[in-house]
Amino acid sequence: MQIQLPDIEKEALAGIKTASGQEQLENLSIKYLGRKGVLTQFLRHISSLPEDERPGAGKNANLLKVKLEKAFKKALNNIDAQKSNAFTGIDVTLPGRPALRGSLHPITQVAKEICDIFLRLGFDIAESPEVETDYYNFEALNIPKYHPARDMQDTFYVSENIVLRTHTSPSQPRVMEKEKPPVRIISPGKVFRCDSDLTHTPMFHQVEGLMVDENISFGDLKGILTTFVHQFFDKDISLRFRPSFFPFTEPSAEVDILCVMCKGKGCRVCSKTGWLEVLGSGMVHPAVFENVGYDTDKYTGFAFGMGIERIAMLKYGIDDIRKFFENDLRFLGQF
Ligand SMILES: [Zn+2]
Repeated sequence: MQIQLPDIEKEALAGIKTASGQEQLENLSIKYLGRKGVLTQFLRHISSLPEDERPGAGKNANLLKVKLEKAFKKALNNIDAQKSNAFTGIDVTLPGRPALRGSLHPITQVAKEICDIFLRLGFDIAESPEVETDYYNFEALNIPKYHPARDMQDTFYVSENIVLRTHTSPSQPRVMEKEKPPVRIISPGKVFRCDSDLTHTPMFHQVEGLMVDENISFGDLKGILTTFVHQFFDKDISLRFRPSFFPFTEPSAEVDILCVMCKGKGCRVCSKTGWLEVLGSGMVHPAVFENVGYDTDKYTGFAFGMGIERIAMLKYGIDDIRKFFENDLRFLGQF
């Protein structure tokens, strides 16, 4: 017999080891295991062997066939694995992608800043419903039906007696009905009016404040609001109290700050007046106290309110209120 099994094994395994690609491996596989391959020829040749050698030679040849088939399969799998790594291009040395961090919306940030100042002054936060009864939104605040003051606010009516609140003021009678003085609250929240342009949106945010106790005077109102304006805008900013009218306060005053754009010289933002309105305020009207059962001879108090978008626009020099609600990340990312 010319060909020996150990020689075939040695030669085939060496070939698999040095083969450099799929094509070479396939050719080798055909050379050894194919129909006309070396091992097949060896098996055919067995019948010519002496009878006592045939079983042993057949068994060994079949074992070698299985061994070589496994070796070829393993080598081909390795090549596939190398190929798929190259295809996905995983480079473990590249830096990872950073996770983007979100941040609070500028309106949320400004509301929090306002609340923090009043919390430090001893106020508590009180919230009330966004869908409100006509009574708490108007009548309890001294705005009876057909009162001309209702025309000042373009109201969304849900039904005849239910409205989307037009201001955060309904929190005042709601708190006073439950609690006896002293009362010191601020209430931030969404309010709704049928209005939309550069400086108005149908939904916007307000913060309302109320302080009631014995001997509360207009001097307390001026002191608290001056402290707030100096802490929120700038400790040296000038402000003035200008007489105004609200149905639920008497006397009433609006608070102006010196124009942050022109420093009082007069510009487009302040309509050439040199001043910007930031707050409405006043001493609580006795009719409001009577509605909640407070003794008007014993207690006095003041209330104030401001639009959060408006003072955020003044603080950051934003000229269009709609930017707050368009969710443009280039805008939001600046805060
Ligand atoms: Zn100005």
